[in-house]
Amino acid sequence: MNKKEERCPKCNANLTGEEIPDELKEHYAGTHWSKKIIIAPYIGADSVAFQCPYCKHQWKKEN
Ligand SMILES: [Zn+2]
Repeated sequence: MNKKEERCPKCNANLTGEEIPDELKEHYAGTHWSKKIIIAPYIGADSVAFQCPYCKHQWKKEN
């Protein structure tokens, strides 16, 4: 299985979390939880940016 790693663009910390359980995978875009903090304009809105929990660096979401 190809495990996609997510890394902070600034401090290069590994942001890939645990594997998402099979029964929950259909509700999420990926196969692993992410440790990055999701920045959204309000609760329930689409995310617009992410923040690294380690160095607090923020970066824009890529489409
Ligand atoms: Zn970082």
